[in-house]
Amino acid sequence: MSSKWVYQFNEGDKSMKNLLGGKGANLAEMTSIGLPVPPGFTITTEVCNHYSASSSYPAGVDEQVAAALAALEADTGKMFGDAADPLLISVRSGARASMPGMMDTILNLGLNDSTVQGVIATTGNPRFAYDCYRRFVSMYGDVVLGCKPEHEDERDPFEEILETAKKAKGIELDTDLDEGDLKDLVVKFKAAVKQRTGNDFPDDPRQQLWGAITAVFGSWSNDRAVAYRRLYNIPDTWGTAVNVQTMVYGNTGEESGTGVGFTRDPATGADVFYGEFLVNAQGEDVVAGVRTPRPVSELAEVFPPAYKQLLEVRQTLERELRDMQDFEFTVEKGRLFMLQTRNGKRTGLAAIRIAVDMVDEGLITSDEALMRVDPEALNQLLRPIFSPESRRAALAERRVVAKGLAAGPGAATGRVVFNAPDAETWADRGENVLLVRIETSPEDIRGMDAAQGILTARGGMTSHAALVARQMGKVCVAGCEELDIDYVSRTMTVDGQVVKEGDWVSIDGFTGEVILGQLETRPAEVLQVLLEKSLAPADSSAYSYYAHMMEWADERRKLLVRANADQPDQAANAIAFGAQGIGLCRTEHMFFGGDRITAVREMIINASDARTLLERVETLERKVADSPDDTQAVNELAKARHEVAASKSVSDYQNALAKLAPMQRDDFVGIFRAMGARPVTIRTLDPPLHEFLPHDAAGQAQVAREMGVDPAVIAAKVEELHEFNPMLGHRGCRLGVAFPEISRMQARAILEAACVVKREGIDVHPEIMIPLVGIKKELENQERQVRESAAMVFAEQGLTIDYIVGTMIEIPRAALTADEIAGVAEFFSFGTNDLTQMTFGISRDDAGKFLPLYLREEIWPADPFQTLDQAGVGQLVEIGVAKGRATRPDLKVGICGEHGGDPESVKFCHRVGMDYVSCSPFRIPVARLAAAQAAIEERSELKLEK
Ligand code: PEP
Ligand code: MG
Repeated sequence: MSSKWVYQFNEGDKSMKNLLGGKGANLAEMTSIGLPVPPGFTITTEVCNHYSASSSYPAGVDEQVAAALAALEADTGKMFGDAADPLLISVRSGARASMPGMMDTILNLGLNDSTVQGVIATTGNPRFAYDCYRRFVSMYGDVVLGCKPEHEDERDPFEEILETAKKAKGIELDTDLDEGDLKDLVVKFKAAVKQRTGNDFPDDPRQQLWGAITAVFGSWSNDRAVAYRRLYNIPDTWGTAVNVQTMVYGNTGEESGTGVGFTRDPATGADVFYGEFLVNAQGEDVVAGVRTPRPVSELAEVFPPAYKQLLEVRQTLERELRDMQDFEFTVEKGRLFMLQTRNGKRTGLAAIRIAVDMVDEGLITSDEALMRVDPEALNQLLRPIFSPESRRAALAERRVVAKGLAAGPGAATGRVVFNAPDAETWADRGENVLLVRIETSPEDIRGMDAAQGILTARGGMTSHAALVARQMGKVCVAGCEELDIDYVSRTMTVDGQVVKEGDWVSIDGFTGEVILGQLETRPAEVLQVLLEKSLAPADSSAYSYYAHMMEWADERRKLLVRANADQPDQAANAIAFGAQGIGLCRTEHMFFGGDRITAVREMIINASDARTLLERVETLERKVADSPDDTQAVNELAKARHEVAASKSVSDYQNALAKLAPMQRDDFVGIFRAMGARPVTIRTLDPPLHEFLPHDAAGQAQVAREMGVDPAVIAAKVEELHEFNPMLGHRGCRLGVAFPEISRMQARAILEAACVVKREGIDVHPEIMIPLVGIKKELENQERQVRESAAMVFAEQGLTIDYIVGTMIEIPRAALTADEIAGVAEFFSFGTNDLTQMTFGISRDDAGKFLPLYLREEIWPADPFQTLDQAGVGQLVEIGVAKGRATRPDLKVGICGEHGGDPESVKFCHRVGMDYVSCSPFRIPVARLAAAQAAIEERSELKLEK
């Protein structure tokens, strides 16, 4: 660690993000490329880490800050704390990854009752001076001195005073407050601080500065910043930098203003200059949504030279920083200043469009384009829209009651709640909620995450609500000023109608419409092209960008991507999303279709009795084969065979299997037809049998009626099948070992189906997979059933099928003895759901009880059932792959646990050398992109930006 803690803006550049934070590095970069940046300096992230660890500063920081401040004074010709012409500064956080609004900012620092006189003297504008002063006191009071609302229905204490003052004067806008009003506000704000904290507001600028620096470093550890980091996997160790910058003013009057710009449209990705500004305002007014801003194009009329310069800045920024930029600017008395720039947050659609367009424009390579899109963002392309019918009906019934800004695309419908904690609670109990706020603040982040959509009364496209919603991929309508929201009565009045908490409201994040009632949603455009085929590819620009990206991804990736699918329609969807095979067909899912379940239940009810008799025959057959002269054995065998022939259990068992066989065969025919020549992995029966029987008396009575048996028979069976730990019980291949007829029936159905489609000219490739194998002999046992059945089918059909037999690796012992198991298995598929469950010793079905606690307490960095635990479970996977391939170098290896659709886990699968990942159909585009990124990361320095 160096002992240089402070950098002037002209000492750094964009490559120094780790040390200077994103904002600091980019301010330095803009300074070095000659853009108009007010001078300042950055205190490094290393100081934050020191502060977080010890609540103290490293030696030398004091002196370095003082020296940097002196340099600033020299640069600006103004002195900090000078009563004649004071230097005023902003103090702002800036982490390595942008965390919009999560940490603190203080503007106009350096003001007190004496320096304000200097501002009045130099500007000749007392109103402006007091406007700055009251903003400073409230911001400092909130951020540094902790004067915040004390409960969720309360408003900000300074807001409250401000509103009261405006009401008393009968005005609506802050700009209608005069010098005297503002001066009065300063006094009232300071009194509120004194009342709340017991201390006087600090007047010494140096004390103010250190208070602010400490507050910003402290804000790295505040709840909302921590929650944000959890959500976006940002390590706590990154820390934030503090940027101290000379103030420039957008609030000196009608000749000044402030705004936010995007070099392209962050919602659609279109190559247009996009942004908003307010005349006579300071930066926070735009993002905080206090007034609804004007589109940036109107700057052309208001401040023509600054606008012209801004258009050039837009080009320069994209050329130098090679990505879409989100920047803040201020026009002070007609003169443009750049206050910050960063890579702009964008919707999934915009991310793809910008990446593809920038390749076309020669700004970036296609590898870079692939690394610019978070695989999860692809989900946003698959977002729902309202069905045109329900939309039309809503229009006809005049239920479209308001229109706000279309801030986050998609269609959302939910029951209205008015605060973030309620959104979380309601969502936890399974409700679809719509979070309605006057404006959102970073505190609301968890509630926003829990809601289907977000609706706000105030704020523009770059307000907190809009930014965060877009990043989360949430549907959002912002700045809908027709809404009159009352937090206390939990109602909103719109268009003369009162909407109460719990009422259904729908919002359209493409148009900004607010619609009363629940609207039906329908699939996104990409889905209309891919799945419904109701839209021609050429008619959808969203689809064409998606297709472009996927094409590049497919050129790069080494991993194949398969789907977990059990039905022909799922298989067809999977292919539309780009699946190259089926990695897991869970046959038990087919058992619930049509009238199969009755046959399944008949099979289960009779299986164990029938098996006892059959097993006796098999044992005696072996005995007689060994000693044909043992007459006692010969007689017993004859008797046992007679019992089998006369047994109702045996005949019912065999009849049930005979009923199931053609049904299963038809299922497989459908899947094989859909998949064509692609490989299809079909797994034999896996779940414990009790799952197929009802556990309640009414259900059991119903089944008894259907099967023509006494309800007591069913109840007794359920009792017999009861297990204390069913997940560790009689399931997986243990069923096949106990009831070989079931495995044989399934193997037959698979191979007969394969023969049917092979005759139709399809080159089928079935892969028969045995679940829950822990020891080679289990696999040998099941493989024998499969091979014998196959030989019989091929003899009957006069046809052979190219098939292989393999196993799931989902028990730790299987991974550890994979070299032995690979002696039999022709392929492995890692079942990381069970492997995680068994490695952690945590029931998949019960983890939910303590999962939130474990995440909150950071005992787990992420849900291990969602993101593979690479350190633990991952080791078993690596061992399994290596040992399996040591025995069988051409062993095909894949994954079919839920992790197969999780980007980080997909990258892990690439690194350990798997051949494929398998995931649910809708995750396939995500897996394709993640696999491409893994391949690019392996051979280049490029990284996915968080
Ligand atoms: C697994 O365990 O990862 C798996 C795919 O099987 P299932 O989820 O059906 O147990
Ligand atoms: Mg499993």
